[in-house]
Amino acid sequence: HLSPRLAAVASFVPKGARLADIGSDHAYLPANLLINNKISFAIAGEVAKGPYENAQHEIVRRALTTQLEARLANGLAAIKDEDHIDTVTIAGMGGVLITDILEAGFSRAKRFETLILQPNTDEHIVRTWLNNHQYKINDEVIEQEDNHFYEIMIATKGTQSLSSLDKKFGPVLRKRKTSVFVAKWQKELDRIDTIFENLEFAGKADSPIYQDWKKKYQQIQEVIK
Ligand code: SAM
Repeated sequence: HLSPRLAAVASFVPKGARLADIGSDHAYLPANLLINNKISFAIAGEVAKGPYENAQHEIVRRALTTQLEARLANGLAAIKDEDHIDTVTIAGMGGVLITDILEAGFSRAKRFETLILQPNTDEHIVRTWLNNHQYKINDEVIEQEDNHFYEIMIATKGTQSLSSLDKKFGPVLRKRKTSVFVAKWQKELDRIDTIFENLEFAGKADSPIYQDWKKKYQQIQEVIK
């Protein structure tokens, strides 16, 4: 059983994909997709020994050894040409790390038809990378687990030109404006309210910093209204 966050990532994986899940930890995502016959082949890449061993245990426990292979490797180096991987998932890491992984393997990454990414932070950095490397964001969802909001995006080879609003809020998310999306940005407005209070208390209500936050605040209000 996958968490709502990983279930959303799984839902974007094309049927019959040859998948590499990078930073797979327990390999829950590829294992689930294989058990549900949505895919028939996957690699679980891990850079750390403990998580790599977690993946190996899960693969044996689920009797998936012929379809799923765990590999100890940094980022996209886990993928071999003969795997014929067409879809890469990278979930549960910061957006900077995801972007570094994509950038380090770009000559290989550009061959992957589909990227499904779930950054925990810095979503705009991931979208900017996609935008600048001929990937087009086709769909996005936002999920809430407890007090955390997770954005999941699927991109395929192609071009698009994202605006700064698209990069920050998500080209699909900001159009769809689900209640979870609004809740995420309302939480950010609440956070900025506290910043205003602190700046006012410090006598800095006229400072450039205050004005910067004011602009960000108004931009968010505009997007979620
Ligand atoms: N993908 C799973 C999920 O979303 O639930 C696990 C996320 S876990 C928080 C992040 C995993 O990424 C860790 O197991 C870590 O070892 C792995 N990782 C971090 N950097 C990596 C890299 N450069 N290459 C492969 N794995 C990496």
